[in-house]
Amino acid sequence: MNYKIAVLDGDGIGPEICRGAIEVLEKVGKKFGHTFAFTHYPIGGCAIDECGTPLPERTVEGCLASDSVLLGAVGGYKWDNMPVDVRPEKGLLGIRKAMGLYSNIRPAKLWKSLVSASPLKYDIVKDGVEIIIVRELTGGIYFGERGKGGEGKEQYAWDTEKYSVYEIERIMKIACELALKRSRKVISVDKANVLESSRLWRKTVHEYAAKYYPEITVEDMLVDNTAMQIVKNPAQFDVVVTSNIFGDILSDEAAQVTGSIGMLASSSLGDGTRGLYEPIHGSAPDIAGKDIANPVATILAAAMMLRDSFSLTDEYRAIECAVESVLEEGYRTADIMKDGKTKVSGSRMAQLIAERI
Ligand code: NAD
Repeated sequence: MNYKIAVLDGDGIGPEICRGAIEVLEKVGKKFGHTFAFTHYPIGGCAIDECGTPLPERTVEGCLASDSVLLGAVGGYKWDNMPVDVRPEKGLLGIRKAMGLYSNIRPAKLWKSLVSASPLKYDIVKDGVEIIIVRELTGGIYFGERGKGGEGKEQYAWDTEKYSVYEIERIMKIACELALKRSRKVISVDKANVLESSRLWRKTVHEYAAKYYPEITVEDMLVDNTAMQIVKNPAQFDVVVTSNIFGDILSDEAAQVTGSIGMLASSSLGDGTRGLYEPIHGSAPDIAGKDIANPVATILAAAMMLRDSFSLTDEYRAIECAVESVLEEGYRTADIMKDGKTKVSGSRMAQLIAERI
C-alpha cells in the first residue's frame, strides 16, 4: 500500500526526532512492502520566521490532503515573547481544529527494562505499567464560556464545564474501540459526586457502552481517587476515558510514573482515520542540535499511526518489539542512561531500532 504522510518537523529537536521516525518507517516500508511518501510542511516558530504565521495555509492544506500527520514539536526561546496570536503553540491548536481532532490518546507505558526510571517503588511497578488515557480534546472547561467582572474585593472570574451527550458519546466510542483490542475494560473518570456535567458524563458513557459495546465493562472512578490510584496501583488501569481538564492533568501524572518524557507518544483523532501523531514532550531547545534527544517517543508515535490510522497492526508490533530489543540490549540515550548501559546518540538510537525491524 502507498501512504501519504505530512511531516510537521517544527522547532528545536523536532527535525532530529522526526528524522529518526522516518528512518524507522522507511525500514518498515521495505520489510512489509509499503511505500510511505513524506512531505514536510512548516509549523510553529520556523513557520513564523518563514511565513509570518505559526500555521501557514499550505500546511493545513497539506495535512488535509495526506493520509496522516507526524508532528515533532513547536516552540523555543526565540518566540517566547511574541504576541499570543502569533506564538508557535497557536499553530498546534490551529492544526488540531482544522483537522477536526477531538480525542487525545496518550499511552503511558513503563517498559520492563526501564522500571528503575520510575519514581515509584519497584514493588508497585515491577510488572510494568500501561495506562492509556483517552482525553476529550475540544470541549469542557477549556472551551466553555468564561468571563470576569467586578472590582477590588468584588472582582470575580468564571469558566464553564459543559458537555453534550454527542461529545461524550463520540469520545466514548474511541475509548471502546481501543478497549476492544485490549482488556475490554474502560475506566471512566469524572466528579459525579459534585458536578452536573459529570453526572451526564457518567450516565451517557454507561448507556452508550450498553447499547453499542455490550462486551465492554465500564467502571467509574472519581477523579480525586484516580489521582491516588495511579501512584498506588497503576497496574489496575488499561483504557481510561475522561474530560478535557481531567485528562490533561491525569495524563501528565501517568507520564511521570514512567519516568521518561522522551519515551511517550500521543495521537489525536477525529471522525476519520487521519490523525496527528506526536511525542508528548516539547521542542527541548536546551538540547536541540546536539544529537542527544531521545527519538523513541516520536518513533512510537509513528508506530501508533501505522496501527490507528492505517490498521497495520503487525507493523506497529514490529516497531514496538524493535524498541524493546534495543532497550533490553542495554542501549540508552542520555535522558534514560544508567550505569552499566551503553550510551548512544539520538540518531544512533533510531538507527539501532530501524536495524531491528
Ligand atoms: P520540553 O518537553 O521541551 O522539555 C522538558 C525537559 O525534557 C528538557 O530538559 C528537555 O531537554 C527534556 N526533553 C524533552 N524531550 C526530550 C527528548 N526527546 N529527549 C531527551 N530529553 C528531552 O518542555 P519545556 O522545556 O517546558 O518546553 C520547551 C518548548 O517546547 C517551549 O517552547 C514549549 O512551549 C514547547 N512545548 C511544545 C509542545 C508541543 O509541541 N507539543 C509541548 C510542550 C512544550
